[in-house]
Amino acid sequence: MRDFTEGEHTIPCMRWQHRHSAFTVHQLPALRDNYIYLIQPHGRKLCIVIDPAEAAVVSAACRDLDLTPAFIINTHHHWDHTDGNRALKRAFGCKIIGHAPDAERIPAIDLRVPTESPLSVLGLEMRLLDVPGHTLGHMAIVLDDALFPGDTLFGAGCGRIFEGTYEQMWHSLSRLAALPGDSKIYCAHEYTLANLRFAARIDRDNPVLNARTKQAKALRKEGRPTIPSTIQLERETNPFLRPLDPVFRQAYARQHQVADNPLAVFRDIRARKDRA
Ligand SMILES: [Zn+2]
Repeated sequence: MRDFTEGEHTIPCMRWQHRHSAFTVHQLPALRDNYIYLIQPHGRKLCIVIDPAEAAVVSAACRDLDLTPAFIINTHHHWDHTDGNRALKRAFGCKIIGHAPDAERIPAIDLRVPTESPLSVLGLEMRLLDVPGHTLGHMAIVLDDALFPGDTLFGAGCGRIFEGTYEQMWHSLSRLAALPGDSKIYCAHEYTLANLRFAARIDRDNPVLNARTKQAKALRKEGRPTIPSTIQLERETNPFLRPLDPVFRQAYARQHQVADNPLAVFRDIRARKDRA
């Protein structure tokens, strides 16, 4: 009897599937604006859950899709990424994987893994990247052409710097930006429209940004996600990656009287967003 959620929650029925060469990503909206992801290797009835904000959403999706969660991976310790850990572990016996330095803050953790070395889960080879900034123990998951950056990188935005430094966050974002341009970004929140409004204020004459905004508005109007986006699109439109472009950076530095280097420009844009 696994249906422990019945009668407790209104289960959202909208879900989206994204097929990659060796696996499918199931995208589940949760809470107000979170996404939980299920990674299902092709031909398997088992899945990996990324950042279960709510157990009920995961169990309902797994029931409908005839899947069993075998593993949970938490990108970081915040409650809206880990709240489903205990209930899912109780119901399905799944193993919980978290970053070793954050082991004390990940509920019911089983496997304390290091970053920067390969990890094989359900036959899928993934890389875990150390991306401190939003939190100190934050990690990102790279699986073929899919990136799960948690709260480090968003559609047209990045996470707030709660525990790390600007330098750490800039270094983390730069690493993600260096992934192949066609990598799909499965971030943990649907913040894109609000982020694009901010982006438009500091990057007015960017035609790619304007086109993205138009498309994102149309998607949201239909109740569809703007996520996944791609590394290439983020490089061209995300205000926190734009300091990588020397033309943007020089113009911004001149206009706002900050030093013409990527970190200084990033720091100014992040601080501006925090005040917005
Ligand atoms: Zn967070």
